[in-house]
Amino acid sequence: MGVRGQVSRLVMKFGGTSVADLERIRRVARLVNAEVQAGHSVAVVVSAMSGKTNELVAWTDGSGAAAQGLAPSDDEYDVVVASGEQVTAGLLAMALRNIGVAARSWLGWQIPIIADDAHGRARIDEVPPDKLAAAMDAGEVAVIAGFQGVTRDGRIATLGRGGSDTSAVAIAAAVKAIRCDIYTDVDGVYTTDPRIEAKARRLSKISYEEMLEMASLGAKVLQTRSVELAMAQGVPLRVLSSFIEPGDDTANAGTIVCDEEEIMEKRIVSGVAYSRDEAKISLFGLPDHPGVSSEIFGRLADANVNVDMIVQSHARTADTANMEFTVGKRDAARTVEIVRAAQKEIGFDDVAVNEDVAKVSVIGVGMRSHTGVAKTMFGALAEKGVNIQVISTSEIKISVLIDAAYTELAVRALHAAYGLDQL
Ligand code: ASP
Ligand code: MG
Repeated sequence: MGVRGQVSRLVMKFGGTSVADLERIRRVARLVNAEVQAGHSVAVVVSAMSGKTNELVAWTDGSGAAAQGLAPSDDEYDVVVASGEQVTAGLLAMALRNIGVAARSWLGWQIPIIADDAHGRARIDEVPPDKLAAAMDAGEVAVIAGFQGVTRDGRIATLGRGGSDTSAVAIAAAVKAIRCDIYTDVDGVYTTDPRIEAKARRLSKISYEEMLEMASLGAKVLQTRSVELAMAQGVPLRVLSSFIEPGDDTANAGTIVCDEEEIMEKRIVSGVAYSRDEAKISLFGLPDHPGVSSEIFGRLADANVNVDMIVQSHARTADTANMEFTVGKRDAARTVEIVRAAQKEIGFDDVAVNEDVAKVSVIGVGMRSHTGVAKTMFGALAEKGVNIQVISTSEIKISVLIDAAYTELAVRALHAAYGLDQL
């Protein structure tokens, strides 16, 4: 029981590595039991066992279905790939009963988690909370298959890879949970990648907005959409390791993702992120008149190519300009094809692509109110002799594109420059 006799509902979510085998599922059952004993009404959202979803996807896409003469199909893809979560939900409910905890499994359609019909990347429209909350409050742990919903026509729809995080947040919002705990294979969100900088520190708290930037910059802890939903619905998240035992000191475990206002200890920069997933496209000798950018980026948008950083500059020659922009590496070849095919309409002399680049970003809500953040960044990079190719900024982020060979050096230099080594 929580405050004033009200039940405190808690959502716990376990990713693939946390439920990879029966032994781990038993450990998860013990962690769930500890929260039940602590007086919470609990819903648990589970992913498929690690590797399972990839295996299922391979049956249905080019590497599987087509190779075996089946035409790929969006709606039936969802029926196949959603099955991994059904297995873990049933197994965890069994493991809970085994240790004397009342539990039952829930599939997406049984709650129901109502989603739109964009198969493979569906969005959740609505989660009616009544049935679920009643079962939870009656003391029965609700073990929910993540990643899946049901369309208004009664078809299964999956929420995009990594979508169990979003299932968990949507459930937490629906049942008004006090928090959504995301158990994973890392013990929280770090100031940077600990594999690159051993002095990286776990953050005890981070704001939704910073987490969103980190997630979209390649820190793969949470599905970006789940953070957006948590921010919109005001659901506090906690990211923590499932490789703990009940009774371990968990009071300060993990990283809380919450509103900026709830973070007492203010930092200017909270983290340094990097991504090697981008390629730089350069267009030379563009005509310098209105409509050129629209011509280029309109075509890329029509082809669903996501453009990230963009810079344009005047060339020495009168009336011409050069443009550089970045796209995902996997879109690089296609991008070059698209602009080449429109060379006449766009009117450039030459195009070049460079895949040997990395984007390094510093993120922090403190940038809104502090000056000199960019100066520190550029100074630290200059001191290490790192050349900056492209710069882009948002209210709470500065990103630079550099030669990929300098990624580690740049990350470490920036981590030190903003005092993150000493947090
Ligand atoms: N099992 C799904 C995936 O691998 C969903 C999830 O784990 O969040 O993408
Ligand atoms: Mg995940």
